[in-house]
Amino acid sequence: MYHRIADVEVDPWDLAVSPKNFEEQLRILRGFNVVPLCYLESVATQRHLADNIIAITFDDGYIDNYNHAKPLLEIFDMPATFFITTESIEKQQEFWWDALERICLRTHTLPNSLTLSRPEPISWKIESQGHTGIDVLSRSDLYFKLCEMVLKMPSEIRDIFVEDLKTWSSNKTDRADYLTMKRQELLNLNSNPLFNLGAHTVTHPFLANHSYDYQKKEITESINFLEQLTKNPIKHFAYPHGGHNKTTLEILTQLGLKLAFTTNQGHFDRDSHPFTIPRLQVKNWDGCQFESELRKWMN
Ligand SMILES: [Zn+2]
Repeated sequence: MYHRIADVEVDPWDLAVSPKNFEEQLRILRGFNVVPLCYLESVATQRHLADNIIAITFDDGYIDNYNHAKPLLEIFDMPATFFITTESIEKQQEFWWDALERICLRTHTLPNSLTLSRPEPISWKIESQGHTGIDVLSRSDLYFKLCEMVLKMPSEIRDIFVEDLKTWSSNKTDRADYLTMKRQELLNLNSNPLFNLGAHTVTHPFLANHSYDYQKKEITESINFLEQLTKNPIKHFAYPHGGHNKTTLEILTQLGLKLAFTTNQGHFDRDSHPFTIPRLQVKNWDGCQFESELRKWMN
């Protein structure tokens, strides 16, 4: 499981692998049996599975997948699946976790207090020069506290909240290299038989926090968008933040999906449920570190 192939300065969730390290990792992967994701479908139905196979996935649809991952995957002739959050294709705004990272961790000078009235009142003291103390939040405490709050919000409330924070920090400009692929880039990606697209909802909510109707709309609309765009059936899905419950699995069954992926760490094996497939998050390791992690995973 990859998210970004980019050089970034701050990466609180270990989401980015540098292009240099990604190339080294692909070099190592040449020694393994890398298969397209659809290969796992036959395992789910027929229980056939070769040993030591690897499938590569990317979540969220960041523009660096197109600029950095695609050319390298093509050179190494490696198949991959890209799970796309469809709202961001048109919206072209940073994801909320990136916006919060920029606001909390990358703003030069923040106000020394944060007071917001919606969706619930908060009033916190924030660390700044000469402003420390037991009830004062460090920048990283602020970041993780806000992430925890935002994760639970429905997207309409979440978007207003993030806008309020942008205004509060006076750090309002989204970074171009943190945006996602647009329609044409997705079409170009999809036109190479090595690659295919999967759905990752419309607005990237934590699905398990939401009702049947909310979940169904998020899942169905993202699949419909991608099917209309690519004229291909979309049969693979990844849960945003890994979040899912019984309702989510029920909806995926109704929609005839074939495979769905969590962010839980683990292997796909003969006993894996096709809708709760675990993955292994690849970090910004060089070739040597990656190979040693792979050997550990494959045992
Ligand atoms: Zn995601």
